[in-house]
This record gives sequence, C-alpha cells and structure tokens, in this order.
Amino acid sequence: MANLSKRITTINSGGDDGWGLFYRARAMKAAGLPIVELSIGEHDIRTDQSILDAMAASAKAGHTGYAAVAGTKALRQTIAKRVQTRTGVPTTPDNVIVTPGGQSALFSAHVAVANPGQPCAFIDPFYATYPGTVRAAGGVARAIPTSAQDGFAPTQAALAKGLEGCASLLVNTPNNPTGAVYSAQTLATICEAVRAHDCWLISDEVYDTQIWDGTHLSPRALEGMAERTLVIGSMSKSHAMTGSRIGWIIGPQDVIAHLTDLATNTTYGVPGYIQDAADFALNAGDALEVSVGAPFQRRRILARQALAAQNVVRVTPSGGAMYLFFDIRATGLSGAEFTERLLDQHHISVMPGESFGASAAGHIRVAMTVGDAAFITAVQTILDFAALLAKGAQVEKP
Ligand code: PMP
Repeated sequence: MANLSKRITTINSGGDDGWGLFYRARAMKAAGLPIVELSIGEHDIRTDQSILDAMAASAKAGHTGYAAVAGTKALRQTIAKRVQTRTGVPTTPDNVIVTPGGQSALFSAHVAVANPGQPCAFIDPFYATYPGTVRAAGGVARAIPTSAQDGFAPTQAALAKGLEGCASLLVNTPNNPTGAVYSAQTLATICEAVRAHDCWLISDEVYDTQIWDGTHLSPRALEGMAERTLVIGSMSKSHAMTGSRIGWIIGPQDVIAHLTDLATNTTYGVPGYIQDAADFALNAGDALEVSVGAPFQRRRILARQALAAQNVVRVTPSGGAMYLFFDIRATGLSGAEFTERLLDQHHISVMPGESFGASAAGHIRVAMTVGDAAFITAVQTILDFAALLAKGAQVEKP
C-alpha cells in the first residue's frame, strides 16, 4: 500500500481516541448484557414529531436537490436573528454559514484560522474530539491546563503561557465534560488573553440552551471580540437533532466567505430538507427547547440530592449541559480504573475524566441520559461503589 498522509494517520496521536470505555460498553451491550449507558452526550428522547413532519414536508415538496452551499437564505436569516436577539451583537445572514453539525463547524473553523503546523489551543478538560479536530485541520493541538480547585476555569497565567504562538483558542461554555458555565470574569480573562496574543477565539456554544444555574454569555458580545471570534452552534443538543447533522459558524463576513469556499470543496452544504426542519424548529418557540432540556434539569436536581447525602464523591460546580463531573479521588483510583471496575461490576458506563485531558484525572463524567428512575438508581450505585472503595483506600493507608 502506498503511504498515507501523516495528517490522517496522526489524528488520534497514535493513542486511542478517548472513547475506549464507551466502545467496550457498547460491545457488552451488543452481547446482551444490561448496560446502563451514562457515557455518550445524547438525549434519551428522539427529535420531536413536529420537526420530523417539517422535514418530511420539505423533502416531499422537492427540497432534495443541492441546497445553497452556505445555507438557505431562510435558515441563515433565522440563525442571524436568533444570535442577534440573544447576544445583542449585530448579526446578518452574511455572518452565518450552515454546517453539517457542530463537529464539522469546529473542523472548518480551525482550517480557517490555522496554518499547517501552527499550534491551536483549547482548555483542558476538553470535549474529547478537540485535539483530533485540530490535528485533522493541520494544526498542532495544545491543551491549556486548569485545576479542579479553580472549577476548571483557566487562569490568566495558564492562558499567557499556553497561547504563545497560537492561531486560536477554543473555549466551550456551558462545558463538556464539566457542565461549568463560565462567569463574566472568566470570559473577560479569556478575551483579554486572546486580544493580547492577537489570535482567534473559537467559542463552542452548542449547549447554550441548557443552562440550569447562571447565565450563558457569548464572548463574541464582549468589546472588540466580534471581529476575532468564530461561534460554533448546533441543533444537536438544543433540539435533540444529533443525527440530522446540522450546525453553524457565526463570524466576520469575509471569514464566512472563505468558509463557503471550503464548504464548496468539502461538504457542498447541508440537505435542504434538514435545513428547513431546523428553520422550523428554531422558529417553533422556546417551549420546544425547554422540553428538550427539562429531563437534564430534573435529573441534575435528583443527583444533587443523592450527592448531598454523602461525602466521598464531590461534584464539580456546574450550571449547564447534560453532564455531571464527579471527583472520585477519595477512592484512590484513577478515573480510568474507576470506570472500568464500575462497568465490570455494576454494568454502568460513564466516561473516565482522563478521556477529556490530564487536568480531569481522578474524575468521571456522568451523562444524565437515561430515564429518571434508572438514572438515580445508577447514581446511587456509583456513590455506594465509591464509598466502598474509599473505605478500602483508607484501610490500605499505613
Ligand atoms: N462541541 C461539544 C462540546 C460537544 O459536546 C459536541 C457533541 N457531543 C459537539 C461540539 C459536536 O456536536 P454536533 O456535531 O452533533 O453538533
């Protein structure tokens, strides 16, 4: 076989892609074991019937041909209006490109800002695909460490060191995996560092409708940031449309024009009937979004009650998204060891913190993505398991 490119063979940096435990749990499930999956960030409900009806009506009306590469006029208009209303930043359809999901948007944004071999930074812990996305786009992945003690918010010092020579900084609020919603202070620190290093800010806001505590602030709205920020949006989390693959990038008009060139030569756009369904969903009012997020809000309260009744597992302060981030260091195990044992002994799959970066060691990510009763039973099992391990850890200590 002729050689493959270094770019494609090093996407996962030679190691695994961080999803090893998830794949093992899926294999156990396929073999018939009753696995409770709290690992992947996907709702336990499906796309609302009204959205599917809009999708089918559009397809039946003939919107099955090539659609405008940058997105339909109607959808770009709807997204622009939504972003302007929510953030106060003047936004027109020329500031919007529709993409096949947030993941593709993340890749395209990095292609847009980074030259081959240039470092692109992101905050650790990070959504598991970030390093691979940067490498797939030709950049060099650079994780900026944070600490549990700071609620995983980046410090000025870490940013100053990490951003040296970088094309961009990728941030994510509300955050996957921690659920943290960045404060105005944290965002101000981030934006100041980005301006000081004259680099781009890529702001992944795919969880912006899932806020349980605090307020979502888009850094694009901060002074001087609209011209150096690319915002990543998606219908996946807000409208339970993960399989429809539809998202967007918001940015300066000339960047959107270049991104359209990229799309012309890669994806060639998003199916028109999917875009029409997204347009319908975004115009359907807040009630639909609220109903998609409500199960997570409910389960978060249930979990917090169970957590309050024990003192082994600490939960990272969080305000949004569909995850809880547990500090299990009192058990004496790494996140990876804990999740392997939990899967084998209790048939519950959660993600090891280590899959999301070195800063997340000794933590586990619990996705609130099964029905309430099964969820709270699983959380209680995790807490009891941790308590048992912690007792053992104490006995072992000299
Ligand atoms: N960003 C974050 C933080 C995510 O958690 C995800 C999906 N889990 C994505 C982007 C990509 O989502 P999608 O491609 O489905 O829009």
